[in-house]
Amino acid sequence: MTIPAINESLRARAEAFAREHVAPRAAAIDAAREYPWDIVEKLAQAGFMGMSMPAEWGGQGASFLDVAVVVEEMAKACTVTARIVVEGNMGAISTIMAYGSEAQKAWASKLVLAGDKPAICITEPDAGSDATGMTTRAEKRGDRWIINGVKHWITGASVSRVHLIFARAFDEQGRDLGIGGFLAERGQKGLEMTRRETTMGLCGMPEGELTFTDLEVADEMLIRPPGGFARGFAQLINAYNSQRVGAGTVAMGIAAGALDHAIEWVKGREQFGRPIGEFQGLQWMIADMRTQLTASRLMLHAAAASRGPNGSLFPDPDLAAQAKIFASEAAIRIVNDSLQLFGARGYGREFPLERMARDVRMFTIGGGTAQVLRTLVASKALGWKLPQTRVQPAQLPRQAAE
Ligand SMILES: Cc1cc2nc3c(=O)[nH]c(=O)nc-3n(C[C@H](O)[C@H](O)[C@H](O)COP(=O)(O)OP(=O)(O)OC[C@H]3O[C@@H](n4cnc5c(N)ncnc54)[C@H](O)[C@@H]3O)c2cc1C
Repeated sequence: MTIPAINESLRARAEAFAREHVAPRAAAIDAAREYPWDIVEKLAQAGFMGMSMPAEWGGQGASFLDVAVVVEEMAKACTVTARIVVEGNMGAISTIMAYGSEAQKAWASKLVLAGDKPAICITEPDAGSDATGMTTRAEKRGDRWIINGVKHWITGASVSRVHLIFARAFDEQGRDLGIGGFLAERGQKGLEMTRRETTMGLCGMPEGELTFTDLEVADEMLIRPPGGFARGFAQLINAYNSQRVGAGTVAMGIAAGALDHAIEWVKGREQFGRPIGEFQGLQWMIADMRTQLTASRLMLHAAAASRGPNGSLFPDPDLAAQAKIFASEAAIRIVNDSLQLFGARGYGREFPLERMARDVRMFTIGGGTAQVLRTLVASKALGWKLPQTRVQPAQLPRQAAE
């Protein structure tokens, strides 16, 4: 495992951007539960959207580590902004850049450079951790695919233009081909957000249910990874390892921001005639938080810079899973303890700790739960394949076994 050096000038630029444009807006975004279009515009102007895309598509060829460095700085200030940067550089857009056709790349890159945060549509009401149990169908009809089904908890469902939809594909004879990735755009007939979730945190980012009713997708908008349908889902979903590193980094960044606030607070707040930071019990809490934060950051950076087996373009699944488990769980503890150091004020809305505590709770759930990721890590350690699901073994995602 290698822990590479970071691009310090990029970090400083992201920090300045977050201080000037993001931090002053964070509380209002949360309270209004509104997607921050003003910040999206500034992120795009500053080159933080699509920076991971190759230069030929208007990006900067930035590495996943570079993106992680930017994401941490944004997350210290505002979780919603950090998630926009994750999805503007990792996840669906990196899948399209890795496996899409020239036309698909041209379409998606233009939208992302203008600020679009692509949506990745996998989860269904009856297919969560067991994603291969999905029932959304894509049926071939001539040169089109007709998609029917329901996805839920789709991040940015109502605001994203690019949608990467995973559906079980059937040929014209009704044969099950396996799971494919289809590209559609917001506003297309048959693609509708039918519900917005009310969430405890991350309030400026809509989480939505998407219903597909005879959604027509042209055959050229089917992503065709080299493995075809048989291996395609495993290859496409492999891009999720970048998203996983991104999600872990958002959690770690929230924790870093919370700890910064806590350190300032204990130096200024006096009780019993002295700053509370002079009490050794609190110093040890700060030391433990700092230690967990450093460990999280190192694991995430190592995962961001790693590559999976067999020439994968994406972070190693095992390292990405370990980093996300560790960082997301540590972040919940760090934010909780930072809040504790504020006493009653930590529980109120005068300070950002309560918002951070609500936001950080998500990261052991979305993007692969901590339990399912442990299964993946254990299967790698034991040399076993993932447990059986309802589908045929040939259709299982196989990252863990590769
Ligand atoms: C804020 C947020 C944003 C999200 N964004 C997206 C998105 O953009 N796109 C998308 O497709 N999905 C998204 N999701 C959905 C997310 O990926 C799923 O919530 C996740 O995969 C878990 O599925 P589930 O919620 O159905 O839980 P379930 O799969 O029902 O799991 C319930 C519990 O059982 C445990 N469990 C399940 N299987 C096992 C097992 N084999 N071993 C041990 N424990 C197990 C889980 O860890 C969990 O604790 C988002 C979720 C959240 C909360």
